[in-house]
Amino acid sequence: MPMHTKSKRYVSQFSMMGTIISLTLFEQNQDAVESVYDYLAQMDRVFSANRGDSELSRINQQAGVAPVTVSDTAYGLIQDAIHYTRKHADSFNVLMGPLVKLWKIGFGGAQVPPKTEIAKRLTLIHSADVVLNENEHSVYLAQAGMQLDLGAIAKGYFADQISQQLQDQGITSAIIDLGGNVQILGTNPATSDGRWQIGIQDPQQQRGRPRLQVQAPAKTFVTSGIRERHFEINGRTYHHILDPQTGFPVTNDVQQVTIITDNSELAEVLSTVCFFKGCERGLAMVEGRKDVEAIFIDQTNAVHHTSGLTVTNKGVFSYE
Ligand code: ADP
Ligand code: MG
Repeated sequence: MPMHTKSKRYVSQFSMMGTIISLTLFEQNQDAVESVYDYLAQMDRVFSANRGDSELSRINQQAGVAPVTVSDTAYGLIQDAIHYTRKHADSFNVLMGPLVKLWKIGFGGAQVPPKTEIAKRLTLIHSADVVLNENEHSVYLAQAGMQLDLGAIAKGYFADQISQQLQDQGITSAIIDLGGNVQILGTNPATSDGRWQIGIQDPQQQRGRPRLQVQAPAKTFVTSGIRERHFEINGRTYHHILDPQTGFPVTNDVQQVTIITDNSELAEVLSTVCFFKGCERGLAMVEGRKDVEAIFIDQTNAVHHTSGLTVTNKGVFSYE
């Protein structure tokens, strides 16, 4: 088969979940495109924090009132999210909803809230106050005012699910891009070794302008940055990743972090945890994990990376 037919790309994009979703296939398959669209539309109805009738909103509305029985899908993701929150209590916390709503960062009308209000809401983010009932598939937030916010994990879960669904449909190669969260499936039909070249966002540029490239087999690439959603008051910048210990945006030397691994949900969690650790401790943590690599861009725009990535002579990173 001539090379050009093998490398033909079919790119579908839709605006959803507050971002641009992009699906790249290497053969025409309208059914697959529609199934991805339908799946994400359904997940938005289940998990959106901005829709009053989502399963997530029903749990939040019943906080301090009663447990809510939810679908298997909702229960599964919430169970994972609470598991990771218990594991990383001082950084990754899916109960940050009351503080996210208070700061309104990325939603217009953002403000620096009064310290007393922040202190009040910090009492509503404890995972010990979440009651999960495996038999009933119910979720109970025991204090009135508690709110789940799955913004830092849900897209990773969706990316993993979509990858599996495409595989089940016999698709052997795909790029699923949920906006800062990329999941690659299979081999690249356009290269002889099947490897992919993925651009890592330049934090100083508009979305889509890469700072560097990584050559790798099919992996997930999850990037978290402080530039995309932020606001400035009196020369200070406030962004959307909030510290569960202070209620303020986390401040350290990290500007952007990218996690490269197989499971996109785990990558989402690790990207947030790394944000809190800072470049040095974040790199050390990822070095200690098999099958996970990371690229940090610090506040001076310097790039730091784990040892499983090597820089080739073209300035491109290569995954071992
Ligand atoms: P992005 O939205 O750029 O992908 P993240 O994946 O890091 O960034 O998720 C950030 C979102 O997660 C915030 O918009 C908010 O809804 C929620 N969030 C804020 N702080 C935390 C935190 N410490 N732990 C978990 N979720 C958080
Ligand atoms: Mg994330």
